[in-house]
Amino acid sequence: MASQLESPERRATASDSGGGDVTVTSGAAGATGPTSASAPLIQLCGVSRVYGRGGGAIHALVGVDLEIGPGEFVVVLGPSGSGKTTLLNVIGALDEATEGRVVVGGVDLTTGTRKELSRFRARTVSFIFQTFNLFPGLTALENVEFGAEVSGRHGLDAARILERVGLGERSNNFQHQLSGGEQQRVAIARALATGNPILLADEPTGELDFRTGIQILELLHEQTHELGTSVLVVTHNREISRIAHRVVELSSGRIVADGPPPGGLAEISDLHW
Ligand code: ADP
Ligand code: MG
Repeated sequence: MASQLESPERRATASDSGGGDVTVTSGAAGATGPTSASAPLIQLCGVSRVYGRGGGAIHALVGVDLEIGPGEFVVVLGPSGSGKTTLLNVIGALDEATEGRVVVGGVDLTTGTRKELSRFRARTVSFIFQTFNLFPGLTALENVEFGAEVSGRHGLDAARILERVGLGERSNNFQHQLSGGEQQRVAIARALATGNPILLADEPTGELDFRTGIQILELLHEQTHELGTSVLVVTHNREISRIAHRVVELSSGRIVADGPPPGGLAEISDLHW
């Protein structure tokens, strides 16, 4: 079924005639960003985020340098309050860096206009949250269709994407008729329906039991392999980081480690928590 879905890269070059910001392969769109084909999809240089001023200021991110390429599956690991959500929000243009430069999908988020940023949010990044955040008044299928509408890519078949996450039979169900794991699957399907090249997931298994959490991770993991989507999963659960090829560890707003999981790469079936 996966092969029936076009990869975001191919779709971007084939149909995005507006020369938008989904330029995984060309890297040329934003004009403000890097233009070489090898430019990273996500690039942060000396990024800090400070909330408040003076003695009470909170330094959520401190001098963060980070580069992430297309198709990487990265786990961002750190205890509560270490800056994980702030990092994700800065990458997704939901929050602004106080200092430094953030270039994502060829768009410089630190100098972008409101219009550029709003187009970026629609066409480059998709978010998955701990609390699923579905529209309760829409069915599963309508929630997924919404993803394609937001990004303006109407070519993707929402019903097929819902099947892809194992919910083909539940397309007419509303949120309250779905389990937590099923709701999170719909949220993933909605994110995939955007066709956007970056998927940002903030503690996506935090509300789920172990077995369901594992299924959700498997699903996210597949996206990098089969669609070439770059996936960033934020978690405080070290066990989850064992399946990532790359673990970026945060402590008090600083990156303190960046590399393969210390104990070696584990199979999803080896995880326990
Ligand atoms: P994590 O996701 O790792 O738990 P966060 O990125 O949410 O960490 O928060 C990092 C730090 O920034 C924490 O000390 C938090 O209290 C603070 N913080 C986050 N958002 C805000 C905000 N909007 N205003 C003030 N402080 C904030
Ligand atoms: Mg958080």
